[in-house]
Amino acid sequence: MILQEEREQVVEYGRKMIELGLTVGTFGNLSVYNPKENLMAISPSGLDYMLTKPEDVVVLTPDGVKVDGDRKPSSEYDMHRIFYQKRPGINAVIHTHSTWATTLACMHWSIEPLHYVIAYGGDRVPCIPYVTFGTYELAQAAFDAMGNDKYACLLGNHGLLSVGSNIGYTLDIAQQIEFVSQIYYNARVAGGGVIMSEKDMAVVLGQFEHYRQK
Ligand SMILES: [Zn+2]
Repeated sequence: MILQEEREQVVEYGRKMIELGLTVGTFGNLSVYNPKENLMAISPSGLDYMLTKPEDVVVLTPDGVKVDGDRKPSSEYDMHRIFYQKRPGINAVIHTHSTWATTLACMHWSIEPLHYVIAYGGDRVPCIPYVTFGTYELAQAAFDAMGNDKYACLLGNHGLLSVGSNIGYTLDIAQQIEFVSQIYYNARVAGGGVIMSEKDMAVVLGQFEHYRQK
């Protein structure tokens, strides 16, 4: 089976998304890219994460052409492949509807650096306006908002997107941004919160850089 290892990672980390409470039911999706083969393994559309097997995972080229698998790929595959096409070093993408990140996305609140852990996602986590789910326009808007130095973004009225050099780190970003989303919401509701200085954030971003290279 081609991309065996990446397909197994999609199965394993899909289950972790459920176990960590980052998504419910069949919502959300994830993919792993193999730069040598120039192929991506992506979760199938509408299949229970706990029942998904490696052979259910769909293999696509970054242009979106199916190479292997009987299932339909996730309807958000454009939001994955655009990063493999256009951003070298990104080898995994995770999309969730986790509760706190989605709460902020429904408020159209970008996350400012209130807690240093936000640096997993960059200096801030931007929120884009609502764009119809499952479209290339949504993929392009998320890609543009993240530029070359951000690893997470909120999708307005929808959820969270995280990207990284490998699937473990990308899941970690999704988990940490979910945590930061809850803190950010609580601080805003409590009347504010103290935004970190650019100087302090620059130090944190420097220290987090080595995680991204792993
Ligand atoms: Zn979604």
